[in-house]
Amino acid sequence: MADTLVDRVTGREGVEAKPRIEVKVVMSAEALTADSDRPAMVEGYGPVPAAWAREALADAEVFVRRLFTDPAGRLVAMESRSRKAPDGLAEFITTRDAGICRTNGCDAPIRNVDHAQRHADGGATSAANLQGLCERCNQAKEALGWQARPGPDGSIITITPTGHVYTSPPPDTWRPDPPPLSRAEFMLRDVLLDYRLAA
Ligand SMILES: [Zn+2]
Repeated sequence: MADTLVDRVTGREGVEAKPRIEVKVVMSAEALTADSDRPAMVEGYGPVPAAWAREALADAEVFVRRLFTDPAGRLVAMESRSRKAPDGLAEFITTRDAGICRTNGCDAPIRNVDHAQRHADGGATSAANLQGLCERCNQAKEALGWQARPGPDGSIITITPTGHVYTSPPPDTWRPDPPPLSRAEFMLRDVLLDYRLAA
């Protein structure tokens, strides 16, 4: 039964056909070559010890894609050979944002990579102006009074309908989390969104 399931899910026949699973591990070159023990990041999970990541990678079929960081360690670009630029850029944003919605305090998985400043308002399709958002935050962004714009260093500045301003820097394993939106702002987001969906 398990073999049949694998055949059906992968579309390939035979017990030798293993499903291909993509797990993104972000680590520095020094940590990969055991010259450093700086923790690695597993997308969608969080930081893991460098030694654990090296051991896991030794047993896997690994495709290494180079990511480039600025001196502060923030991701600034991604090498993209096999995909066309928009897909590569979306993948870069998802990796930079660690797979988690960019709204401060929202820990839902990214479902959309979208402009902070709207394309129609002159927002560029660039790493600085793109953000990974969950389904609800992406729709709430279109709600009346909700604004976002790119800040320096890859930050996203969100202005909620109550006028509160929240700055969300790109996640960094070695920095404390930014203060989250208040419970009231999240409730407001959901009320606005339900109102919009009902309209
Ligand atoms: Zn969200």
